[in-house]
Amino acid sequence: MLIHNATVITFDDQNRIIENGAVHFTDDTIDAVGSDQMLLQQYPAGQRWDAGGMVLMPGQICAHTHFYGAFARGLYIPGAPATDFPEILERLWWRLDKALDLQGVQSSAEVCLVDAIRNGTTTLIDHHASQRAIDGSLDAIADAVDTSGLRAVLCYEVTDRDGPTAAQAGIRENTRFIQRITNDKIQNPKSKIQNRLAATFGLHASLTLSDTTLEDCVAEAQRFHIHVAEHPADEYDSVAKAGKRVVERLHDFGITGPQSIMAHCIHIDAWEMALLQATGTFITHQPRSNMNNAVGAADITTLLRGNLPVCLGNDGFSNDMFTEMKVADLLQKMAHNDPRYLGADKVVQMAVHNNRRLAGVFFAKPVGVIAPGAYADLILLDYYPTTPLSSANLPWHILFGMSGGHVHSTVAHGQVLMRNRELLTMDEAAITAQSREVAKQTWERYWAMF
Ligand SMILES: [Zn+2]
Repeated sequence: MLIHNATVITFDDQNRIIENGAVHFTDDTIDAVGSDQMLLQQYPAGQRWDAGGMVLMPGQICAHTHFYGAFARGLYIPGAPATDFPEILERLWWRLDKALDLQGVQSSAEVCLVDAIRNGTTTLIDHHASQRAIDGSLDAIADAVDTSGLRAVLCYEVTDRDGPTAAQAGIRENTRFIQRITNDKIQNPKSKIQNRLAATFGLHASLTLSDTTLEDCVAEAQRFHIHVAEHPADEYDSVAKAGKRVVERLHDFGITGPQSIMAHCIHIDAWEMALLQATGTFITHQPRSNMNNAVGAADITTLLRGNLPVCLGNDGFSNDMFTEMKVADLLQKMAHNDPRYLGADKVVQMAVHNNRRLAGVFFAKPVGVIAPGAYADLILLDYYPTTPLSSANLPWHILFGMSGGHVHSTVAHGQVLMRNRELLTMDEAAITAQSREVAKQTWERYWAMF
């Protein structure tokens, strides 16, 4: 397929913007990027797609999300409003996850995947919980990912909050699913779904994990995805339990490392930052969620100054990563009372370059870049800049101009998932009608827990 007559934003090493540009891909992989003229000559036959001058850029990557949170939209939470994040966990999330059955797990994933295609997010790193439907939950999500055509990294959040049986089931689910992915890759290396799916080992957070359970987890895996210091309570708990701060405690178990993800890291101190830097651990930042939970602003300016790989996630908020990028910038400026904080270039460093590095941990070919040899994950935006656009000011066009609403077409792994805002792999009307019904049943079970 040759997509031509586009303004191509490559996000490659030269950070090129190619006016009247074109991208050619064969099967799931990009094989050429260049000018219209050149590529039309080079590929005279085959399928062509005239982009009509639209922006063509790599699909967005979301470094930390929760598909299972989809049914929280509009949910009535009984009792007085939660006063802090631990209360939000206890009243909302730890009950909602228990109210989900396998059908609810799959349905909430489908809802998020539709939203992701619409907003041009083609790779999602999910962190799943459904404490009364643990066995097979990652397969239910994988089925939805398979249908969608998107790329995803899945894990189950192991926790002691519901007792040892559920904790062991969480460990089993991670181990089983990691094994499934490994086996499928060996048996069927050319399978499209297997090259779009990856697994890691999920852990909830230090504050709901005992030493014994952590020992069981590290015996099973080398890379992890865990929440870290989202609220001071996580640090207080770790100091009381282990005499160490959260990152130190997790590091001593071998949970840090260049393939591990630590979400949030809002309340870590300088020594914890040093440990994350020394181990090359990925950090993810979710500003919309942090503001909603009133848990503070992570010191990402400092982390980025130290070249720590800080990535951008959405923590289950809408899959419009353009919005998450805008909010990331606003939160730092607001938190520091200084308009010089962060800036669009640093936001792009996180959301584009660091997210791409993180995706590189899980997938065989590069993701999040338009370059020969990278996976063909591409989005077209009907964004026509009203001011000059150059590679130097591109980050500011992204922050102040582009939005998920501009996404006109979405391609992942060389498959067209949405064309001219029409979804081609997922039946949105059917998915939405079903999710409304399944959400209602889930809500009933949730309310019964009060
Ligand atoms: Zn999270």
